[in-house]
Amino acid sequence: MSVYEVEKIQDNLYSIKEDITNNKFPIIIYLVIGKEKAALIDTGIGSGNLSKVVRSITKKQVIVLHTHGHLDHVGADALFSELYLNCREYYLASNGGDFQALTNERLNFIKLNLKDKTEMYENIKSHIVKSEKTYYNNISDGDTIDLGETKLEAVSTPGHTPGSISYVNNKDHYAFTGDGIADIHWFDGKESIKVEDFLNTLNHFENKAKRVKKIYAAHVPKAFDLELVHDLQTAARAIINGADDEIENADYEFLKHGNLYAHRYGQATIYYDKENI
Ligand SMILES: [Zn+2]
Repeated sequence: MSVYEVEKIQDNLYSIKEDITNNKFPIIIYLVIGKEKAALIDTGIGSGNLSKVVRSITKKQVIVLHTHGHLDHVGADALFSELYLNCREYYLASNGGDFQALTNERLNFIKLNLKDKTEMYENIKSHIVKSEKTYYNNISDGDTIDLGETKLEAVSTPGHTPGSISYVNNKDHYAFTGDGIADIHWFDGKESIKVEDFLNTLNHFENKAKRVKKIYAAHVPKAFDLELVHDLQTAARAIINGADDEIENADYEFLKHGNLYAHRYGQATIYYDKENI
């Protein structure tokens, strides 16, 4: 049994959907194939042998480019040998060095999402990639990864996490944004940066992604266009200017953000804490 679904998006670009939630919260891993090397954008929750799936698509050397260090993005890291992550995310990605606890947290995440599908959970549990000590190369804003005729530029997009990185390919008009730029954002006041700083992130991304037409986020199985960035900018500006919003409870069981205000504009939804704008 494999939870991975491979789809060819265009020449040399694939999505690998790892779905443990009946499409409610799919994890989308992307694979870019250059002339010399291939780049895997994140490794998902690690519910199975992702390396084998990647090998069925390409035999080229594969490097992993991380968008950030959350457990649903670094789960299968132990299967790969060359990985890049912004250094502000090292602690998060390695759970402060407690790998046993990290594996258990990943299993809990899967269990919570699968709810009553006990058999599927037991199956995944027996195949789960165990988290282990991983060496990460630091990657930061402005770094370029050359895969041979295909280049990805790292663009710092903090907000979702402090070291979130997006990868931009202006030549082929696409970008991978992880959870850094997506349709839904949470700013809960504790770990989050201010909405005002997120607006700077959006402006920076817009400047660096001038020729991007497709934005691939990590949990949405379709591409957004740059209109998403404009919608987020408009929503963020409205919040900064004191929008009259209601408190809402976000419908994601694994997130414990408490009561947050919600502001919507176009495709964008921003949940925020009025104490941290
Ligand atoms: Zn995340």
